[in-house]
Amino acid sequence: MSAELICFQSQCRARYPVTDVIYNCSQCGGLLEAAYDFSAIDPENLKQEWRRRRMSNAPLDQSGVWRYREIIPFLGDMGSVATLREGNTPLLDAGAAAPWAGLKRLTFKHQGFNPTGSFKDNGMTCGASQARRLGLKRVACVSTGNTSASMAAYAAAGGLQPVIFIPHGNISYGKLAQALEYGAKTLQVEANFDQILKLVRVLAEKLGIYLLNSINPFRIEGQKTIIVEMMDQRDWRVPDWIVVPGGNLGNVSAFGKALRELRSLGFIDKSPRLAVIQAEGAAPFYELMQGADELQAVEHPETLATAIKIGDPVSWPKAKHEVESSGGLVGKVTEQEIADAKAQIGRSGIGCEPASAATLAGIRNLIAAGRMDPEADVVAVLTGNLLKDPDYIYRYHTGQLEAPGGNQLHSRFGNQPIVVANDADRIAALLEERLLVE
Ligand SMILES: *Cc1c(COP(=O)(O)O)cnc(C)c1O
Ligand SMILES: [Zn+2]
Repeated sequence: MSAELICFQSQCRARYPVTDVIYNCSQCGGLLEAAYDFSAIDPENLKQEWRRRRMSNAPLDQSGVWRYREIIPFLGDMGSVATLREGNTPLLDAGAAAPWAGLKRLTFKHQGFNPTGSFKDNGMTCGASQARRLGLKRVACVSTGNTSASMAAYAAAGGLQPVIFIPHGNISYGKLAQALEYGAKTLQVEANFDQILKLVRVLAEKLGIYLLNSINPFRIEGQKTIIVEMMDQRDWRVPDWIVVPGGNLGNVSAFGKALRELRSLGFIDKSPRLAVIQAEGAAPFYELMQGADELQAVEHPETLATAIKIGDPVSWPKAKHEVESSGGLVGKVTEQEIADAKAQIGRSGIGCEPASAATLAGIRNLIAAGRMDPEADVVAVLTGNLLKDPDYIYRYHTGQLEAPGGNQLHSRFGNQPIVVANDADRIAALLEERLLVE
């Protein structure tokens, strides 16, 4: 099986060996994507083989990424795979969250069930495996969030040294704590995100460090399997919509590539529409898709949904192509809408981190605006685990959650703990009263 990297720019399309240590096209600076000779693929055979692998105890088959290795064949030799049995995330019935948003049917594909609690694991197993294949011993990324947590885990599991660069004074403790525990060298630099990215590129070359930021084309390959696994779980019934939050836009780019490939290979005969939801204070892709040619970066992105607090998303050319070719759209939601949607997802017994809840908030708005049919078959991808951001949750339920500008958010579905005296009769009376009311 031959694999190569191809420049995504349609006027360039320069090609590179898959073993080059390269992050952008050296001709035009464009994004790179993996391309394969898929001529040996037989969809009906593979559907059965992939199903059979779910019964296997072999590590590669137990991974919800490498089980589908025929669709991501960039490695050649599987000996360099580093896996924590990522993927294998459930499709969950949305329960009461569906009618709340105005839908008859809604399922959540919950990527928060991954080993480090986010979809980044689907991509990182591929990125770390590629680093091992290239013989590079150190990996790095710039991130305060799920990328760091995931990279640290996969580096540790694969015997690589993880180095994390974080902008000064911009720390998300739940996620940083994971990175520290997995043993990542963590450097806090007195500079902003873009300055650090430039710095890291210089250091990467000097020190032989492999960069695992979101433009890494092999991470995108791994994230394709979110869609493949979802379709396998749905017995290949194509939904009408797939809804996903958008930050750096790597995930929607991966979804679109997966859908294009599955369709051209004959696994599916139509594509769902992709809907990307951004937070109002960090919505450059939403603005772009209103008709601009080039993305205008948002200089000071603001949202409590830190996983999508991105002002200058690197993967926008791919994301634009994928949303357009699926007949999709981009929506934006307010902080209050995210908070309410998140509480609804929690009340359904499911729960997620704030960025993930942008999906349900976005769906509710699209239904209200008549842009999505209430009868549609919709899958929303919940990108991260509830426990990633406990501070947000506690503040919400105790009425202390403030939006970035300082505005107090309404805790419409708040659930405040009650302080009680050590007195069985009074507690019983109080419980009877409260439980009857609710
Ligand atoms: C990274 C991340 C996102 C954003 O995904 P992009 O690929 O950057 O668009 C959304 N939600 C969570 C939980 C994430 O970790
Ligand atoms: Zn190019």
